Amino acid sequence: QDRPLDSAHGLWTDPMSEKTIFQRIIDGEEDADILHEDDRCVAFRDINPEAPTHILIVPRKPIPSLDDLDTEDKDLVGHLFVVARELAQEEGLRDGYRTVINCGDDGGQSVWHLHLHLLGGRRMSWPPG
Ligand code: 5GP
Repeated sequence: QDRPLDSAHGLWTDPMSEKTIFQRIIDGEEDADILHEDDRCVAFRDINPEAPTHILIVPRKPIPSLDDLDTEDKDLVGHLFVVARELAQEEGLRDGYRTVINCGDDGGQSVWHLHLHLLGGRRMSWPPG
């Protein structure tokens, strides 16, 4: 078996033919608690929240990871952060919050479609595990 394991779902997937779970959510094929949608990104609550607020901000463009980012994507990434700030305000995270992009296996990435985590509602520790 030479295909990677989709660890979020415990399923063997072929990245060349299978959509990621985030692509299925973007395409409306999988349910999610969507909080924001625009022409460039979709934001929805994480199914396994690590904090009272845990939102994923996902570009519609299927960039697999931060490592695959092109110079032409820099405005898109900036947009993800602006949306994160707007959602943090909507969630009432007045005492602060954390944004995270996990990249690659050592970074703890499990879904190969770029996404920005927005976490808040509790005091975060540092360094991350
Ligand atoms: P990563 O580990 O790649 O940085 O983050 C992937 C995140 O996606 C995890 O926090 C995981 O809980 C979340 N996730 C995985 N599958 C689903 C799903 O089907 N729906 C939602 N809303 N989140 C998911």
